[in-house]
Amino acid sequence: MGFEKAERLRRLPPYLFQEIDRLKAELIAKGVDVINLGVGDPDLPTPRHIIDALQRTAEDPANHQYPSYSGMNDFKGSVARWYRSRFGVDLDPEREVLTLIGSKEGIAHLPLACINPGDVALVPSPAYPVYDIATMFAGGVSHFMPLLEKNRFLPDLDAIPEETARKARVMFINYPNNPTGATAERDFFERVVDFARTYDVMICHDAAYTEMGFDGYRPMSFLEVPGAGEVGIEFHSLSKTYNMTGWRLGFAVGSAEVVAALGQVKSNIDSGAFNAIQWAGITALEGDQRCVAEMQGIYQERRDVLIEGLKSANLNPAPPRATFYVWCPTPRGYTSQAFTSLLLREAGIVTTPGSGFGEPGEGYVRMALTVGKERIREAVARIRKLSF
Ligand SMILES: *Cc1c(COP(=O)(O)O)cnc(C)c1O
Repeated sequence: MGFEKAERLRRLPPYLFQEIDRLKAELIAKGVDVINLGVGDPDLPTPRHIIDALQRTAEDPANHQYPSYSGMNDFKGSVARWYRSRFGVDLDPEREVLTLIGSKEGIAHLPLACINPGDVALVPSPAYPVYDIATMFAGGVSHFMPLLEKNRFLPDLDAIPEETARKARVMFINYPNNPTGATAERDFFERVVDFARTYDVMICHDAAYTEMGFDGYRPMSFLEVPGAGEVGIEFHSLSKTYNMTGWRLGFAVGSAEVVAALGQVKSNIDSGAFNAIQWAGITALEGDQRCVAEMQGIYQERRDVLIEGLKSANLNPAPPRATFYVWCPTPRGYTSQAFTSLLLREAGIVTTPGSGFGEPGEGYVRMALTVGKERIREAVARIRKLSF
């Protein structure tokens, strides 16, 4: 008997980074000093006081048992207090907050809570791949909303065909945005709430980067818009804000009905996040926030070095106001893939082809600010030598 993968796995898009990974391994084996601007994973350590909190609470046997499915009340209370102080949004910690094993986990499970086979999800493109793939896993169909420079990388809601809008069950949005680095303001979120009401579509806002703003810019929560809490849910994560990607801790907040439905899916799949990690999360959210300002300062400096350097190399990306991504247009005559390959082969620099995030990402590469500024200087020097 031969093993046959399920149809849903055979329908996955080909792994676009395979060729890059292969080339990268080959170069490293040859002794090339590879600079990795490919991954969206902070290189900085988790702040000390958060690690101390985990060490302390890991010692307590009360934390060794199954956690509660929907999350520790203390953690959910802490999330609600953080939303109040950071965004001025009031949440009922019991009904409107759900602990997640990282926000990716919640985003990936959300379609199981709201999509029936054949239902439409409105999905941005280029985007974090999870929105589309989780939709497909749930038997849904993605209708892609292109994020174009002429629209400041916001979806054009008026371009969604009426019939598609009526059929749609959920819309995914993500600001500050990965991969484009774009940001959204109140007027956009207001239009999204209107759209949700008109077409009875549930909004799922991925807000992983709200704490990564530069030059004093503080991105807003979707839930700050009146009525947003009735039409949608917002996903948040400790991963980027506190350099905790490996810890797996995030949360979903918003509509009590959606929170309950997602919780119902999860209670049949996982058994919650380790309590000691939730205690450490409380320390992160309620402790000294100077670590966040420091992190912002570091990425801002790196951004400035990269943007200035790329300009001097005749590449002209817009400086992002938030996120640790630079969305860099490719030089004339290069596709995303071709430019990524060139940078890797000729300069030993790993970037991500924009087309890997969806067809409208063609013509860009994504560079992540996840290496020190000396390494970014080195990367820029190598790019300049290629003379575009
Ligand atoms: C990093 C990231 C997340 C966060 O994922 P976690 O599972 O919380 O680590 C979510 N959405 C986007 C767009 C991201 O880039």
